Amino acid sequence: DELRGEIAPDARPRQVPGYTYSRISPTPVADPHLLAWADDLGRFLHLARPAERDPTVDALAGNLVTATMKPFAARYAGHQFGNWAGQLGDGRAISLGELMARDGSTWEIQLKGAGPTPYSRRADGRAVLRSSLREFVCSEAMHYLGVPTTRALSLVATGDTVVRDMFYNGNPQAEPGAIVARVAPTFIRFGNFQMMAAAGELDNLRALADYTIRHHYPELGAPSPEVYVRWYAEIARRTAVMVAHWMTVGFVHGVMNTDNMSILGLTIDYGPYGWLEPYAPDWTPNTTDFSHRRYAFGQQPQVALWNLARLAEALSLLVPDIELFRPGLDGYTTTFERSRQEIMLKKLGLTSLFPEDDARLVAGLLEALAEAEVDMTIFFRQLSHTAPALLAAPGTEAPRFAELLAAATYVPLPNPSHAHLLGWLGSYLGRLQQETTSPEAIQASMLKANPKYVLRNYLAQQAIEAAEKGDLTYLHTLMEVLKNPFDEQPEHDEFAAKRPAWAWDLPGCATLSCSS
Ligand code: AMP
Ligand code: MG
Ligand code: MG
Repeated sequence: DELRGEIAPDARPRQVPGYTYSRISPTPVADPHLLAWADDLGRFLHLARPAERDPTVDALAGNLVTATMKPFAARYAGHQFGNWAGQLGDGRAISLGELMARDGSTWEIQLKGAGPTPYSRRADGRAVLRSSLREFVCSEAMHYLGVPTTRALSLVATGDTVVRDMFYNGNPQAEPGAIVARVAPTFIRFGNFQMMAAAGELDNLRALADYTIRHHYPELGAPSPEVYVRWYAEIARRTAVMVAHWMTVGFVHGVMNTDNMSILGLTIDYGPYGWLEPYAPDWTPNTTDFSHRRYAFGQQPQVALWNLARLAEALSLLVPDIELFRPGLDGYTTTFERSRQEIMLKKLGLTSLFPEDDARLVAGLLEALAEAEVDMTIFFRQLSHTAPALLAAPGTEAPRFAELLAAATYVPLPNPSHAHLLGWLGSYLGRLQQETTSPEAIQASMLKANPKYVLRNYLAQQAIEAAEKGDLTYLHTLMEVLKNPFDEQPEHDEFAAKRPAWAWDLPGCATLSCSS
């Protein structure tokens, strides 16, 4: 109620000047039934897992709006692929309201794919099963990996079909529809502030900033120009930490438009994301970005910085001088470098004894990895076993390193592309010998920093194909495995396997588009 909301008479696409959001109800679907449920998150929110067909499932499909819900779609704008796109808004996401969790915190529940809103432009407001399943699984996997992210509570099939041109070949297909209930303290994005600034709606801009600070950054104190400046620095800091996680776990967001940047520094809007298999800085899973590669893995740190600069422009209407945001923006770069270095040292089992040499060691590794086309996740996980073992029993370096590469590489062995990585492994082992902790302790800490299980692109695809045939076992097993990504779970080794040759051409492994 602190923000101006329009009572939307209907979902006709339109500009919504003067308002921060529109009140709009979800459009009912034919036959809502539960496909998957995130138990831990449910418990945290005081929600018991519902039966397949249940009033709770009806609510999570948008078929049941209770008296305490106030469904709305937010008005936001953004830069898409570097270009100003004007008003966008929640075109297929409708928030039902907030729930209070066990710890007293409040969480917004948002249905993605719940039908048209005033912001749907020319699209249908719906989502297909494959994209919804991908958002559901990946949000939760990221959470258990320790990456700042929005969460996902449920995956509900709608019983309706949705028509999509999956391969952009002019041959649209009817696909099963689904709705994810996603959960976060708030889904406010950089783009919400950009919208108000671009429209010259200074009162709305200030009200939204004050609302966000009061509810989500209360530790900063009562809003004022000075507090806006400190707030911006904190947004930049959180964004830096988030991107440092992405870069060390091998996550490619795929569509880092400013409307997909959370004001809380959470990973948000899982669309054409992907996971690095061979370590390749220029890899992107997003088909619509194949020519420019703006959002490729290695571009992510700079893109986040660019996006933060756009946010500074929007917020500059609230402070005397945009230059006041400069320290916050610069802070992004220092925090990013420091966080990435901290995480990388943990992954390598090193304590910061020699900061400058270690920074060179990490930089050398990233270059060697790119050259060697090794699987990032497998490389670090194997290293957690191999390196401490060699500390304890030196003398078998050559065969152990060969074994490590054989496990991780996508190219035939021996391979000249591995020369630098082999050299690097030698220097690294020398450096590791300087650590004073026992090999066992080093191994234990490395295994906690290097996940065995991530959401490999082909795993998500297999879960989709099974689910589309009505078999949910694979999805449920995958979810369970990804809850403990740092545990060995030997009975589930197949979920840690290097991408098999047959998986390269799977839809969704090499190529994905934005808005399915
Ligand atoms: P995205 O690229 O997924 O971040 O979406 C960009 C914009 O398009 C946002 O305003 C979305 O709400 C909107 N959008 C994407 N898909 C749909 C859809 N199927 N129906 C309505 N709006 C959509
Ligand atoms: Mg989006
Ligand atoms: Mg999206």
